[in-house]
This record gives sequence, C-alpha cells and structure tokens, in this order.
Amino acid sequence: MTLDIQKIRADFPILQQKIYNRTLVYFDNAATTQRPQQVIDALNATYTTFYGNIHRAAHFLADKATAAYEETRDKVKNLINAESREQIIFTKGTTESINLAAFAFGEAFVKEGDEIIVSEMEHHSNIVPWQLMAGRKGAKIVMLPIDDNGRLKIELLDELISPKTKLIAVAHVSNVLGTINPIAEIAQIAHNKSIRILVDGAQAAPHLKIDVQALDVDFYALSAHKMYGPNGVGVLYGKKELLEQLPPYQGGGEMISEVKFSGTIYNELPYKFEAGTPNISGVIAFGAAIDYLLSVGIENLATWEHELLEYATSKLLAIPGLKIYGTQAQKSGVISFNVDGVHFFDLGTMLDKFGIAVRTGHHCADPLMDHFNIQGTVRASFAVYNTKEEIDVFVESLKKVISMF
Ligand code: PMP
Repeated sequence: MTLDIQKIRADFPILQQKIYNRTLVYFDNAATTQRPQQVIDALNATYTTFYGNIHRAAHFLADKATAAYEETRDKVKNLINAESREQIIFTKGTTESINLAAFAFGEAFVKEGDEIIVSEMEHHSNIVPWQLMAGRKGAKIVMLPIDDNGRLKIELLDELISPKTKLIAVAHVSNVLGTINPIAEIAQIAHNKSIRILVDGAQAAPHLKIDVQALDVDFYALSAHKMYGPNGVGVLYGKKELLEQLPPYQGGGEMISEVKFSGTIYNELPYKFEAGTPNISGVIAFGAAIDYLLSVGIENLATWEHELLEYATSKLLAIPGLKIYGTQAQKSGVISFNVDGVHFFDLGTMLDKFGIAVRTGHHCADPLMDHFNIQGTVRASFAVYNTKEEIDVFVESLKKVISMF
C-alpha cells in the first residue's frame, strides 16, 4: 500500500505552522515525534468526559477511566506480541523502565563481582542505571564494542561473557547511528549461557514491528512520546517468571494488596510495579497513538521511512566534506553527520533559522562520541509524516549554511 503522506500530515496540527516565516521541517523525531489530532482528542476527551482516579473508586468516572487505561495495556500487549497483559508495566518512559529493571534485577540477582554487558552505542539511559546498580552491588560493567561502521561486534560476546555475567543491555535501534541490532541473535547467545537480555526499544518501537516473543527478550523498554503518543508514558515488558521474581521498584498505593505495620503483601503483576497514581490521561491517549500507528500500518511506515533515509543519505553524501556516522544496511531513519570545518552546533543553529528542526550534540551517547573521537553530530531523524520535498529543502539549506562558513 502506498501511503498518502499529505493526508497523514493533515492529521498533525503542529506541522501546519510557519517558523521564522518558513514552512516547518521537523527532523527531530528521534528526540520526540509530534502528535496527531486523534491523540490530542483522546487526551482532551479524557479530561472533559471521563477523568477519575483508576482502580480505586467505585463510581462511573473512575470505572470508565480504569477501563480506558486498562484497554491501552491490551493494545500494547498486542502491539509487541507479549504473552499476557500482566507483563506490560506502565512507567513514565524508557528511562524509568530501565531504571526499574536495573534496580529490581540487581536486587534479585546481582552479587558482588557479577558483570553486566552494555553496548558501546547505548543511550545514557541504558548505561547509567546499570552503573548505579553496579555501584550498589559491587558489580562491574563490561562494554560490548562497535566497529567504525556502527555495527555491534557481537562475535566478541563469546569472549566477553564470563561465568559472572548476568545480563546484556542493548538498544534495538541506536538513536545516533540508526543501526538495527540483531536482537534475536544476541538473545539466543545470552540464553545459551543462561544470561538475561534487556532491550532498549525507544528508537525501534516507533519504526519496526516488535515481537517480544519472536525476539525472545527478557525485558523490553519503550516510550510513547517517540510513537506519536503523549510524553510521560512508557512501558517495561518483562518475561512473567522473571517479573514475578523481582522486588518492587517503588512503594506506595496501588502496588500493595495488604499493608500492616508488621509487613506488606505486594499486589500481583503488573500492579506490583505501578505505585501511585500513574499518568492516566497519557496512558489512555497512548492507546489512541497505537490505533494511529496501526491505521497507518507499521510496515508501510517502515517502508516509507526507509525510502526517506536512502533519498536523504545519497543527497547528503554528495556534499563535499560531509561524513555520516552509522552506515549499516540494517538502519532506521536516523542520519548523524558532521561537516569538515563547521561545528555541528553552528549547523543546527543556522538550520533552525531556515525553519528546520534537527538535533545537535552528543545525543546522550558520550561513549559512542568517544568511539568516533568527536564531541557531537548533527542528527536528522524521520517520521512517517516527512517528505522528500522536506529533504530537498533541508539539503539546499544545509548547503547555504555551509557556504556561509
Ligand atoms: N534510549 C534511546 C535509544 C533513546 O533514544 C532515548 C530517548 N532519546 C531514551 C532511551 C530515553 O527515552 P526517554 O527520554 O523517553 O525516557
């Protein structure tokens, strides 16, 4: 099916505006996507018609809000093909999902001297929570390196895995390089040695069909705001037998079944991990974002974004002195680059004046920047509503900016 991109664009009110009197070109989708009217309407409808606190009160509004909140759990379960709805834990984003997993996994399974393997291309949110846990437990972080094309050197896993290794933490898709990592293969290597795997799916869930059972991962984390959904909502998926063995991450209301001063009995999954009043309206609107993704079709979206990636890559490579970081064939719609003699920050600032939104800096991936011996890059990242005409505007503007320096 060919997508009608103009029709899709019409769903996104924010894209209709002018910035500095120029048509907005929004290429910062890896940082956060924009929301279609359907998601904005769902948020609005929650607050205007059926808002109440979930799970607790026995009244109409609370019942309706609870049903809508729980319906999103089913939608996420289906979207990522989880075995059961109990395995879908709502958090405030990928960062919180990984912190939850690292804390609880560490408490349950990590002893002094144990090791966690973390890839060199990780976002800080899949590095620092493991370091915090390792600091508490006296464990060690071992780095899985990449090559200069942005490929994970998974052939080194045999060497890096030791009897002390407990878990491998890896991104499904790199937010800087766009590399799509061979998760099923890594999971198999891990499981053959009785090691667990956590996958940071923040950059994969918006672009790929995710099947946690086919991938056979132990944990999978994602953020709604990168999937045309609201910010402040994320998901941690976990294998049921694993989640059942983990202690709670936070204590409070909702995560208990009985509290006495002599001791507390925790609630069952997934509520054991959802302490306090969650982002009720956000989770409900995330349901509308999932409906939107499915109505576009994730395969259709992936095909279109790949076309944009190839179109932009060939145009950018024709610019003298421009270097792209991350050149794997298995790549999602993210292009990080630098131009000889021009600072990435200057490029980004000047592009903004042309109405073009890109990201500049280290992209929360300092170890990856160190690998390439750079301070940062310019990053253009695509979503389904982007067009080849926008890429033309971007490339022409970039050439003008370069010529100014
Ligand atoms: N991991 C990756 C690969 C990311 O790109 C991001 C967002 N930049 C995160 C984790 C963190 O996501 P969030 O800020 O939504 O928690």
